[in-house]
Amino acid sequence: MPKNLLKVSGLTKYFPVKQGLFSKVSSQVQAVNNISFEIKSGETLGLVGESGCGKSTTGRLILRLLEPTAGKVFFEGQEIYSLSSGKFRSFRRNMQIIFQDPYASLNPRMKVEDIVGEGMLIHKLAANKKERRELVVKLLEKVGLKREHLNRYPHEFSGGQRQRIGIARALAVRPKFIVADEPISALDVSIQAQVLNLLMDLQDEFGLTYLFITHDLSVVEHISDRVAVMHLGQIVELAASESLYANPLHPYTQCLLSAIPVPDPDNQPQRIILSGEVPSPANPPTGCRFHTRCPKVMDICRRDEPAFREVGNDHFAACHLL
Ligand code: SF4
Repeated sequence: MPKNLLKVSGLTKYFPVKQGLFSKVSSQVQAVNNISFEIKSGETLGLVGESGCGKSTTGRLILRLLEPTAGKVFFEGQEIYSLSSGKFRSFRRNMQIIFQDPYASLNPRMKVEDIVGEGMLIHKLAANKKERRELVVKLLEKVGLKREHLNRYPHEFSGGQRQRIGIARALAVRPKFIVADEPISALDVSIQAQVLNLLMDLQDEFGLTYLFITHDLSVVEHISDRVAVMHLGQIVELAASESLYANPLHPYTQCLLSAIPVPDPDNQPQRIILSGEVPSPANPPTGCRFHTRCPKVMDICRRDEPAFREVGNDHFAACHLL
């Protein structure tokens, strides 16, 4: 049984909303609300939900790009928020991120050699410039680029190639864990499968662990060992990939899955259309946060928040029906 690489406990992030002449805090956006999960060494956990549900904030909290309002993150047993910023800087080498928009995340004034080699320089992973260049070339080749790309700038590449540069940059410091934040959603459909396959090959070769964030449940089915479904700052279902796709238990997951087209239209499940507005995270509904849109809502749902608990073999969900 692989051991946990990462443990997230009660993680919460509220952003203050300021208003008026004196920027008085008028309310709080509850972006992430008391979530807990673990990621085993070598696995891919898919984190799925609609835009604005808090999944990217979760990724940034785990990398300590944001400080939490409450909660803890343990990486190989080390609680990361308690580390001084100096200690965390070297620790951070273990944890990298691949961004959604490969163009915006690459410095347009830097050549590929410097973009990919920067982390090696900071963490002193090469003895000299020549050695660093050879390490960069090796990485470029691993991600499907070439030595001749070393001296080019980001604007000289296609979207897919730029994402490959972003992946090489993340790998350059030999991390154990990568947050892939919507890494293929800005790419052409024809390129998406290539980048997904590349990420899976690199995982095998380097023994990487992924948190794969996406708004699209169909994307993570084949690459995730387990999938967590997030709604309005909370995880509402978490299970092994096969279990979640074959037997989704939470009404929200059922709804998301019903929207995925299947190859045989005769077997397409009936689409569940949600009515009502997506509630604001600044003013989430009482009880179950999904109750304003849930097709199976009951009286208790408006009043009591359902506990997130094990409802099947390693299958967790938060719903009064389960
Ligand atoms: Fe729907 Fe109630 Fe379950 Fe929430 S707790 S998902 S409102 S049935």
